[in-house]
Amino acid sequence: MRLLPIPPGMETEAFVMDSGALRDVPELVRRCFQSRRPWIVADDNTWKAAGSALFGILKTAGLAPHEPFIFPAVPMIHADNALTPRLTDAMPFDCVPVSVGGGTINDLVKRASAVTRHRYLCVPTASSVDGYTSYGAAMTDNGLKKTLPCLAPLAVAADTDVLKAAPAPMAASGYADLAAKVAGGADWVIADELGIEPIRADVWELVQKDLRKWISDPSDIGAIFLGLAATGYSMQMYRESRPASGAEHMISHLWEMENLEFKGVPVSHGFKVGIGTLASTALMEWLFNGHDAAWARANARPPRTESERRAEVDGLLSRGCYGAKTGEIAMGKFLSGEALAARRELIFAHWDALAKRTADCLIPFDTLKSMFRAASCPVVPAEIGLDAAQFEHGILAAQLIRNRYTVLDVLDELGLLREAADAVTLRMAGNARASVAAVRG
Ligand SMILES: [Zn+2]
Repeated sequence: MRLLPIPPGMETEAFVMDSGALRDVPELVRRCFQSRRPWIVADDNTWKAAGSALFGILKTAGLAPHEPFIFPAVPMIHADNALTPRLTDAMPFDCVPVSVGGGTINDLVKRASAVTRHRYLCVPTASSVDGYTSYGAAMTDNGLKKTLPCLAPLAVAADTDVLKAAPAPMAASGYADLAAKVAGGADWVIADELGIEPIRADVWELVQKDLRKWISDPSDIGAIFLGLAATGYSMQMYRESRPASGAEHMISHLWEMENLEFKGVPVSHGFKVGIGTLASTALMEWLFNGHDAAWARANARPPRTESERRAEVDGLLSRGCYGAKTGEIAMGKFLSGEALAARRELIFAHWDALAKRTADCLIPFDTLKSMFRAASCPVVPAEIGLDAAQFEHGILAAQLIRNRYTVLDVLDELGLLREAADAVTLRMAGNARASVAAVRG
C-alpha cells in the first residue's frame, strides 16, 4: 500500500494514490475504521467505473459490505442538501460510508456522514474537483450555494487507473478547478494587502508553492489529483475555502444556483470555475494593469445611498433563485459614508502594491486562455451556454453572495464594477478591439 504524506494536523489520516489502489481499500478499512462493514454510495456510472469492482474486493476480503446505495445516472443529481436525508435514512448503523464517485457523490456522502457522526472513506473516480479532501461540503442549501461544515474523509484511496479512465471532460474540469487557485490566490493577496484577511503562510504554501508545476501538463492526471488533494488539505487547515476559492468560485456559484446547463446537460463545476477564473483574471488586469491610482481616484463613482444600493441588489437578484439570505449578505457588506471613504483611501494608498502583487500571482489572461484551450477547457462563455448578459450578470451578482473580500469588492467599492464587467464581457467574447476601447474609454 503506497501511503502518501499528509500535512500535520489533518482530519484525513490516510491517503493512498496508486495504480490499482482499489485493492488497498480493505486494508484502509481495517486500519482506519476498525473493520466496520463498508457501505458504498455511487451512481450508475461510478458503480460501473469502480463501485462494482470495489464491492467484490471488499466481499473477498471478508468485510461483508452492506448493500450499496446507487443513485441513477440520469437525471444527474446535484449536490443539494435536500438529498442528504435520503442518505442518512438509508445509512446502516455503524457502517463505513464509502463514497465512490466524483465531487457530487463525495459531497453528499461527506454531508450525510457529518450529520450521522460517521467518518467516511473517499474513493474518487475522476480528478475533477478539489473537494475530495476538503473540510466542508460545497452544496446548495435552501437555494443558496455554500460550504456546509463537515469533516473531511478519514481516508482516501485514489486509484490512478480509475482516474485515468474517467471521461476526458471530467479531467479537464479538475484542471480548471486547480488552475483557479491562481486567481483565487490573487484575491487573497488583495485581502491581505488591505489588511482585511491576512495570508496564512503555511496554508498558502500548501496550495501555491507547486501550483504552476501541477498545472504545467494537463495530461498528468496524477499531478493534477495531487494538486487538488493539497488544496483540499489547505481547506482542512484553514477551516474555510478561502485558500482554494475567490471571485472565480463566487461567479461560478451564481451560475450553479441558476442550474446552468449546456445542450441539456448541467455544466461541470470546473468548467464554470474555469470561465470564472478567466473573468476574474481579466477583472484584475483591467483594474490594476489598465489604470493607476490617480485614474481610479478621478473615476471612482459617487457613493450610493443605502436605498440606491438596495434597488441595485434587488434588480440583480430579481431572478429569485439565489437563496433567501443573499440580499442580507449583500447589504451587510455595503459600505457608505466615512467607512467607504476610508476604504477607498486604503485602496488608493495600496494601489501600486496591489498591482504588483496581483500581477506576480496571476497567470496573464492570454496565457491562461491558451493553457485552458490546451487542456480542452472552455474559454468563451458561449461554450458553457452563457450569453453575454448572463455572463455579465454572473460577475455583478457574484459580489453579493458571500462575505469574502475579492477583486469584486474592490471594484464595487470604487463604483467601477459595472464598467469593469462590461469591458471583461467584451474581452471574454473574444472581441479584443472592443475591449481595448472599453479599457481606454
Ligand atoms: Zn472548486
